[in-house]
Amino acid sequence: MKTLLQSKSITEYAVINFNKLKVINPRLLPERIDIKSALVILIPYRHEDIKATDGLNAGLFARCKDYHGYFNALAKDLIPYLEETSGGRVFGFADHSPIHEKDAALKCGLGFIGKNGLIINKRYGSYVFIGEFLFEKQLPELLHKTEPGCLACNACINACPTQAIDKGGVKINECLSCISQKNNKTTEELTLLAENRTLWGCDICQQVCPHNNGASYSLLPYFAEDIITEFTEDLLCSMNEENYKKYAFSYRKRKVIIQNFLTAKGKYDIMT
Ligand code: SF4
Ligand code: SF4
Repeated sequence: MKTLLQSKSITEYAVINFNKLKVINPRLLPERIDIKSALVILIPYRHEDIKATDGLNAGLFARCKDYHGYFNALAKDLIPYLEETSGGRVFGFADHSPIHEKDAALKCGLGFIGKNGLIINKRYGSYVFIGEFLFEKQLPELLHKTEPGCLACNACINACPTQAIDKGGVKINECLSCISQKNNKTTEELTLLAENRTLWGCDICQQVCPHNNGASYSLLPYFAEDIITEFTEDLLCSMNEENYKKYAFSYRKRKVIIQNFLTAKGKYDIMT
């Protein structure tokens, strides 16, 4: 498995007994198959420091290609091999998953949870997505240590423009990233997006985290392709469907990100 994952440039992975994991979406589990083990992987997506020129607050995940596309292709490649070597069925998930992924990555020792609520990996920092393969057959566990842990420096708390982070974690109703991805927004929410020039997602609490200083970049070529350094209204309106679907924001209708864009640029009448 190590060689296979390394051939795909996946360096952060672990194997854990399935019964240690939190099942949050049982209807996504395969029917009539008793899952015994999980291979949990981290997918690093920060390819390099992006020099955005549009002055907009947007998460890197919105500027690079959607990781669901990456994971689907990876699963298609890996599952036949994993089934053959394990001798049972294997099922791949990322994001839309039967298990609590952050909890799984934490229990595997693939990272720790920062005050900004994100999983933070020793090698790649917090610019990672989580994916997992569930196995019918029992695999030997391969777990890691979670050190060093959050430094509790509070840089993320102090930098958050909406004071969305406190001792209890991230208040999703006040987080620009969560607000930007809502279909329908209140006047107050649109005002927050306008004040903070926020288009889609927000990386501010990641940018200031010391664990991301000097963290390794992703070696996955997928995340270096078609990066958007300058969002414009024209780009968002004229992108054909195939291109639009390459990006994570395409899970909402186009009018949502266009409204965000106009709001962030001060061109949308928030009171309408
Ligand atoms: S910025 Fe500091 S407090 Fe926040 S997650 Fe990173 S190390 Fe922890
Ligand atoms: S993503 Fe942005 S708004 Fe949300 S908690 Fe982090 S800094 Fe605050």
